[in-house]
Amino acid sequence: MSEPIVPVNVETVVVHGRKVVCDGPEGGRHPRVYLTMVDDAAGKPDHVVCPYCSRVFRFGE
Ligand SMILES: [Zn+2]
Repeated sequence: MSEPIVPVNVETVVVHGRKVVCDGPEGGRHPRVYLTMVDDAAGKPDHVVCPYCSRVFRFGE
């Protein structure tokens, strides 16, 4: 299983669904965006990065 390369100082959020809604971390709001997990090589949802706040959402079982 491969791990995506993630900057160490960016908040990582574990979520349980393929769809993610992000409107910013605490104290830093941005327009609400709907994100869809990027699949890994095996076709399982893996992670998605918010284009506004750079938070990383990881798929958790
Ligand atoms: Zn965000």
